[in-house]
Amino acid sequence: MSDNFMDEGFRRDESGWLGQDLRVFPTVGSTNHVLRERLKEENVPPGATIIALEQTQGRGRLGRSWWSPPGRGLYVSTLLYPPRLQHAGILSLLAAVALTDAVRRITNLTAGIKWPNDGIIQGKKYAGILVEAGTAPISWAIVGMGINVTGQVPGDIAHAITLEQAGAKKLTLELLWQALAHDLEARYESWLVEGNAGIIEAWRAYSVTLGQIVLAQGPFGQFTGRAEDVDEEGRLLIRHGSSLIPVSSGEVSVRAPDGSYAPSSGAG
Ligand code: ATP
Repeated sequence: MSDNFMDEGFRRDESGWLGQDLRVFPTVGSTNHVLRERLKEENVPPGATIIALEQTQGRGRLGRSWWSPPGRGLYVSTLLYPPRLQHAGILSLLAAVALTDAVRRITNLTAGIKWPNDGIIQGKKYAGILVEAGTAPISWAIVGMGINVTGQVPGDIAHAITLEQAGAKKLTLELLWQALAHDLEARYESWLVEGNAGIIEAWRAYSVTLGQIVLAQGPFGQFTGRAEDVDEEGRLLIRHGSSLIPVSSGEVSVRAPDGSYAPSSGAG
């Protein structure tokens, strides 16, 4: 069922496939969850998308919650059928690269990425991405994004910002979705043909993490080191003493040792 009284502005023209199958809802628990339920149906096409104007149970990585108030952000999840499941980690970086492409193209803002996939502007987070993947009935991945667009983020969410607060002018949810759908489709298609290298290269150029001292927290506990690079699978390589430790996006969170996301000057 589509709530089509409000989906006109989100509808893509016929040239693209991503987002052609679109369902827009006034409010949902989480867009990833709604799309996951749809996977139980037969023949859900690649690019099938759920947009909600509000999420009551927006989720971030590692079971964290995502503030998703009505009409102020773009809450969107898209279904992809990547050829193999081991691509879930790289899809997380791919989604962040596509989002950054889109935001830079339609605003005057120098958006950057905190590893693996947080959208950062002026050292603050404007977007979070959650990729979920599985193999039944076939290899699938859901790319979910929560993007703060208009208004102000409440003071109790530390280091957060909306695109409007950062200086974006006349930006609507519909305009942002049109740009994002285009760029996500373009990055995904190039990746299918060319593999990970192009995504990693773009990710490095947008990174606010590389070269920084980071505190990594995961199942191993925590340690501090310099973020040196990402490998071809999108794992972050952290220099700790004489070892270079690879950490993967499914389980590790990194921040600056003082708890901030990134320096507020420079890219992002
Ligand atoms: P970290 O926040 O440490 O970088 P992470 O990348 O795993 O970790 P996410 O899963 O992307 O974090 O996002 C969840 C976190 O983001 C929450 O714990 C909260 O601090 C913050 N947050 C929640 N909602 C928003 C929002 N709308 N905008 C910015 N930050 C938010």
